[in-house]
Amino acid sequence: MKYILILTLVALTIPADHASAGLLDKLQNFSNPDSKESKLFSGATQVLSSSKEIDYKTERTIGESLALEGIQRFGIPVKNESLQQYVNLVGSAVAGNSKRATIPYQFAVLDSNVQNAFAVPGGVIFVSRALVSILNDESELAAVLAHEVGHVSAKHALKSTQRAQFFEGVGTITAVSVRGDKGKKLASAIGDMQTVLFDKGLDKEMEFEADRSAMETTYRTGYDPSALIRVLEKLQKLEASSKDKKGSWFSTHPPLSERIVRLRTELGKYPDYGALASVNERFVTNVKLK
Ligand SMILES: [Zn+2]
Repeated sequence: MKYILILTLVALTIPADHASAGLLDKLQNFSNPDSKESKLFSGATQVLSSSKEIDYKTERTIGESLALEGIQRFGIPVKNESLQQYVNLVGSAVAGNSKRATIPYQFAVLDSNVQNAFAVPGGVIFVSRALVSILNDESELAAVLAHEVGHVSAKHALKSTQRAQFFEGVGTITAVSVRGDKGKKLASAIGDMQTVLFDKGLDKEMEFEADRSAMETTYRTGYDPSALIRVLEKLQKLEASSKDKKGSWFSTHPPLSERIVRLRTELGKYPDYGALASVNERFVTNVKLK
């Protein structure tokens, strides 16, 4: 379809009877921005780019701005290089087996006593110290990180903003400080995503999708896919005794009971799950938070 459009425009610009004789002249005209040919061609590229998705650089720029907001709300990365390296190793392993394995992911443990994890567009993923501290083994850490990788690969945050249509054909944005009308629209789209990621939570169906993809990704990496269910059950016990749920995985996600029921059904797809790895020893060696 796209090629047909370009070919049609080029054909219209170059009359068939003079096609071979004047071809070079006509092509040269494309480099003159005021020429009729050039305008036609840039029209065609605009039509094409308006149907294109947001490019990765823009996605990452938006994500980094949201990451800064997340750090302000939840705390700075824990100063423990070997822990951060370990979490990045596990995260990279699951991301490499995810549906979007080609972008660079980064993982960090934030110094927060609220049990939470979140991902921003472009592949920056955070998990709180409090959430890591209730985990027992590497498969559980992998499950939490894989849930967040699932959000990044499905571009859930970007899709959740009502201004999603703004990103269509926006071109490349490499700084959030972009001025003018585009800048205003970008700022309000980022504001929307902040509310969704940190206060309101994503759409329920997106959360279930991230849970399902976490199970699949951990399984493909070689971890026991039932690990996510174990994590959610632990959170369920904590939720019962926790007074302040603000900003946690309880407040921004669908009810844990609903997620657990769905995941138990999903586990049926992996009958050999019990034979897969949980990796307790390496986890205990690398994660010393308690
Ligand atoms: Zn989620």
